[in-house]
Amino acid sequence: MKYILLVGIFLLKAHLNAQTKKKITYDFSCLESSTTIWLADWEKEIISTLGVEATFTEEINVGLQVLDECKKEYTFISSGAEIDLLRGILNKLKLKIQKPRGFTYQIYYIDDPMVNAFTAGGKIFFTKGMYKFCKDKHEMAAILAHEIAHNELGHIRDNIAKSKTYDKYIGKHFGKFSVFVANILTLSFNQKNEAHCDMWGVDLARNTGYQTCQTISLWKRMQAKEGKENQSITSLLNTHPYSGRRADCVKNHLKTNYAIQCNE
Ligand SMILES: [Zn+2]
Repeated sequence: MKYILLVGIFLLKAHLNAQTKKKITYDFSCLESSTTIWLADWEKEIISTLGVEATFTEEINVGLQVLDECKKEYTFISSGAEIDLLRGILNKLKLKIQKPRGFTYQIYYIDDPMVNAFTAGGKIFFTKGMYKFCKDKHEMAAILAHEIAHNELGHIRDNIAKSKTYDKYIGKHFGKFSVFVANILTLSFNQKNEAHCDMWGVDLARNTGYQTCQTISLWKRMQAKEGKENQSITSLLNTHPYSGRRADCVKNHLKTNYAIQCNE
């Protein structure tokens, strides 16, 4: 009997280890166009071939610049139940980041009705409009985890490297054209990054103990809202110009990796 129990415990442990070590896969077939994925990969390849890199310090500095710009335009809310709730969620999430890159995550709560969140250099900006748009802490966790993902997956670093590449190889000859090109490329390529952050964010929120099926209805509501009004923010790092088919991406991701079937 003792041995059967021991074998049972061993098998259970092996099963749990296999579950925790199972490699998470990210499927981008949920996106509207495979061309988008191809272009994103192609551009990343070109930039890495040209060898222009961005440093961690540059990422931090971009975060500081965004903070300066926001301070000029917006008022921050630094105390109260709402910012406390956001800080609490962020603190829980950041403890569960696997192989963290070393950012000191901080939240900045902007007193503005616009529904938005954006990030750079570990600084996460979250509007009052976004707070009201979220139905509960699980949805807030999804947004915050998504913003953490942009930092951990190196999207801001890649954008800086991209900007430096265009300055170096095109800027001198074409001046403003390089900025124009970079903007166009950013617009068309961001979809893959956004979908990646949605799925990576769901992994983080789930590992932290938040419910993740909520994310699907969140992105669906966001999509419906974006269809009705033109979302614009004057920040240079507006990271959410599309909802696209992100709800489908998350649904597929939860089903494939965790066998979770969301009834959305
Ligand atoms: Zn984003």
